[in-house]
Amino acid sequence: MPCSHCKQSGHNYVTCSHLTTEQKKKIKEDKFKKKKENIEKRKLLEQKFRLEQERQRILKIEKEKNEKENTYIVNNPNSYELSLYFTTTQNPNNIRHFTYIEPNSSKNIQVYPHNIILFYPTLDVLIENSHNAIKKLPVNHSKQPILKLNISDFNDKLNEQKQLLIQNYRESLNNNVINFYNVSSDDNNNNCHSDQLNYYNNVNHIQMEKIIYIEQKVYIEEKTELEKWKEVGLKSNYLLQELIKLGGEKYENLEPIFDMVKDIPIPEHTPHDREIAGIPSILTNVVGEEA
Ligand SMILES: [Zn+2]
Repeated sequence: MPCSHCKQSGHNYVTCSHLTTEQKKKIKEDKFKKKKENIEKRKLLEQKFRLEQERQRILKIEKEKNEKENTYIVNNPNSYELSLYFTTTQNPNNIRHFTYIEPNSSKNIQVYPHNIILFYPTLDVLIENSHNAIKKLPVNHSKQPILKLNISDFNDKLNEQKQLLIQNYRESLNNNVINFYNVSSDDNNNNCHSDQLNYYNNVNHIQMEKIIYIEQKVYIEEKTELEKWKEVGLKSNYLLQELIKLGGEKYENLEPIFDMVKDIPIPEHTPHDREIAGIPSILTNVVGEEA
């Protein structure tokens, strides 16, 4: 390395002939000062880095804790898929799809106390001609959810149950205390304090599983208004025709009524319509129809 002062090789600034002793001393001091400053700077940087790392670690722990606290298990005992929608107490008209739950299965979901969760059979919320659920459900959607759950209410209920378990646990401990004193007073045992149970014993082990149970329910495809009226019409007319077959016209008083029944025009309909109405059709009973 060449001399840092005169740039000639073969010596350094300490042995440089172009520098006085005073100058050399000053350079040495400056270098030392600079070195010290650099060390300080590095230490500060390292410290900053460590602090940041620690901050990230705490953030991660907080996030995991938060996730765990807000995780619920949904159990779907039905043989059809469920679609879950969430909305909030502040803005209940904004109903958004967020997950599916397969038939006969459980799934973890993450929701928060201000959420309201709506559970629908996916078949009731399908986008027309698709296998996907509607993303944003209109407030006036024609189908009702099989469950509408306010998470904060659900938490309250869980907490109530937990308090009952805690109370029960403490009472069982108190019984132990009474038994213990009964025994120890007889043999004057002074060690009783070490075994004494505290009414305010640690109850952290009492935890509630946050499981949302869905009611087991057979899926019934709802009939349209037209289908309902066809059913009523076809069924009523079928019963009147049966009365005629059974000889209802023989009764003088009923005859004019049955004449009118015969005059009721029945609109065109398919065997499937009769099937839905639950009356004999070529699909169910050919003989019954012709007899
Ligand atoms: Zn030199």
